[in-house]
Amino acid sequence: MKKLSRKEIINKLVQNNIPLTILGDYKNCRTPTLFKCYCGNLFNVKVQSVLSLNTKSCGCLHKSGNSNLKFISNEIFGHLLVIKFAYFKKAGSQRRKAYWWCKCECGNIKAIRSNDLLCNKRKRCGECKLHKNGVPYSFIQQEISGWVNGELNYKVENIYIDVAMPKEKIAIEYDSWYWHKHQFIKDCKRVNKLLNKGWKVITIRSGRKLPDKKEFLKHIEKAENNNTRYWHILTLSDWGK
Ligand SMILES: [Zn+2]
Ligand SMILES: [Zn+2]
Repeated sequence: MKKLSRKEIINKLVQNNIPLTILGDYKNCRTPTLFKCYCGNLFNVKVQSVLSLNTKSCGCLHKSGNSNLKFISNEIFGHLLVIKFAYFKKAGSQRRKAYWWCKCECGNIKAIRSNDLLCNKRKRCGECKLHKNGVPYSFIQQEISGWVNGELNYKVENIYIDVAMPKEKIAIEYDSWYWHKHQFIKDCKRVNKLLNKGWKVITIRSGRKLPDKKEFLKHIEKAENNNTRYWHILTLSDWGK
């Protein structure tokens, strides 16, 4: 194996989804080098063994019966963003289950079981702090609402508008990729209903980003000054990522 630079090793770890961090001075592939496992343990192993995918953890994966654990840091499951591995916890006589620290859209951080995320059983922290009209809302909704002095989860018949400006009849919809990637037709129907009731609609399509405030407020102004059916889609750079 040719001698790699430290940066190349780090890139390889990321590319192969190996949840290890190289800490020690790297001399060559065959000298045991200090690594930090995603579980927090420090251990020495030859770089060679890591890069050839023979070593993926300090041994914790094997010991806990989770050799095939999926590493899901930075992935989104419903309203949850996985931050990092939390711990293994024994459930009865079964093998130990992996938990991940997740950040909910409401801001709560909670450890949630791997399987519950992967099987779509859990999509929220379960104790969302932010509610309006019986429907949870996100920090992003709250932020945008603050910009326009809007109302959250504003009810128009059976539709809850994410952020509404009732006086101006402007509806702001925040469509995140996770929930909306496959439901454009459904979203169109919803928007059409609002348009038919005289609302103007601005849809933000995004991964988890906020729009640029200045640019966004320009669109609000445009909507205010428009007297015809108005629907503008603002697609942010992280839509689809
Ligand atoms: Zn470990
Ligand atoms: Zn929550």
